[in-house]
Amino acid sequence: MRYLSTRGQAAEPSFCDILLGGLAPDGGLYLPEETPRVTRAELDVWRQLSYADLAFAILSKFITDIPADDLKAICHKTYTADVYRYTRNGGAAAEITPLTKLEEGFYLQELSNGPTLAFKDMAMQLLGNLFEYVLAKRGEEINILGATSGDTGSAAEYAMRGKKGVKVFMLSPHGKMSAFQRAQMYSLQDANIFNIAVRGMFDDAQDIVKAVSNDAAFKAKYKIGAVNSINWARVAAQIVYYFKGYFAATANNDQQVAFCVPSGNFGNICAGHIARQMGLPIAKLVLATNENNVLDEFFRTGVYRPRKTAETFVTSSPSMDISKASNFERFVFDLVGRDAAVVRELWAKVDAGGAFDLNGTPYMDKLAGFAFVSGASSHADRLATIRDVWQKHGVMIDTHTADGVKVAREHRQAGVPMVVLETAQPAKFAETIEEALGRAPVVPEGLQGLEKLPQRVEVMNADLEAIKRYMVENLA
Ligand SMILES: *Cc1c(COP(=O)(O)O)cnc(C)c1O
Repeated sequence: MRYLSTRGQAAEPSFCDILLGGLAPDGGLYLPEETPRVTRAELDVWRQLSYADLAFAILSKFITDIPADDLKAICHKTYTADVYRYTRNGGAAAEITPLTKLEEGFYLQELSNGPTLAFKDMAMQLLGNLFEYVLAKRGEEINILGATSGDTGSAAEYAMRGKKGVKVFMLSPHGKMSAFQRAQMYSLQDANIFNIAVRGMFDDAQDIVKAVSNDAAFKAKYKIGAVNSINWARVAAQIVYYFKGYFAATANNDQQVAFCVPSGNFGNICAGHIARQMGLPIAKLVLATNENNVLDEFFRTGVYRPRKTAETFVTSSPSMDISKASNFERFVFDLVGRDAAVVRELWAKVDAGGAFDLNGTPYMDKLAGFAFVSGASSHADRLATIRDVWQKHGVMIDTHTADGVKVAREHRQAGVPMVVLETAQPAKFAETIEEALGRAPVVPEGLQGLEKLPQRVEVMNADLEAIKRYMVENLA
């Protein structure tokens, strides 16, 4: 399998070539040159597989430059009941992404049972093992620099801790994350993990990462890499749980299913789109946003209008507070018939700070064929939904999952099971849980008292040169 860029560059690298990089050199995102189709016979076999074997079956269609035995071993090392052990009620960890039934035909799919209690672990744990494997093969090293407002940084650190050939420098806004999120990251004592708390906001940290990314000489000399949400391997890994969720929610492969996905950067639901293109019987992909409704607006109106940072709301589902959806270009590439010239034209407007409108173009009619619907949720909706699900079903859900449940309820269809992707656990967002329920969230067994562990973090000013110096000193 070769990979192409959504903006049409000539070179077609293979999976391992794009694993360690970010954007394609022409500014586009990588996608497989063609989407593999799944046969009915394959679906029948896959229905019986364990998560790790299913991951291998699916990923081997996209990854053809790692020997099959090695890829299989990586999948089995990643998707274990021990890694994804923080299940609701302490059960079913062997299923990796078990369903919680709320009522007949309405389920949560638990994607947040990994070490950092958010769905980012589903892909990031695989990425950590793939990085270690490919770096060892090539005799290379990489230094990951990132900025986080909470979930991505901890998922990356737990995936890369102790890995040979990898160091992680993670910038976080000093004093802005929840106590639980801080404890998750800063309590790591692994020698290859460096936490830098930047005096400032998330955007200040993000600006430093961007400035380093634009410094080609520094980047090359110190082998700086990224693991952000545009990474293709992360999207590929996420395809697997759509198949697993489908098999768990249906009795046979003649049935259809709908998925509802709490969305921000369009990474998670992009994997659902690809699963559907592969032939998984998905009747509907329901996209849920919070008050930052740039994607809901697109699927309702055909207008994609990224917001300015100043127009982005700070909400109680903070991992969905995005102004621009960094994976959305992958979907639009398929929508416009994989015509890179059209994508270049549309993103010329977006990259210049503008918007695009598909009304009056042939793509508006095509949009219906991709089975997306959408909706938005507010802080009041989140509180009401958390309360309602707790009172009716005795199940505690986090704020992002609540956005999903709220929107999913607006799009239910008789005879089609609805699966809401549970993207985080309530323990991460204690403040809003207390506001909704008047009690503290459930903290999984084994993570109680995390806040009391010793922490290892360097507090620094948002000073590019000082942070570069700190990195260079610790790379020696
Ligand atoms: C990252 C994240 C999301 C948004 O996922 P995207 O892939 O960016 O659309 C939703 N919920 C939680 C808890 C997250 O961490």
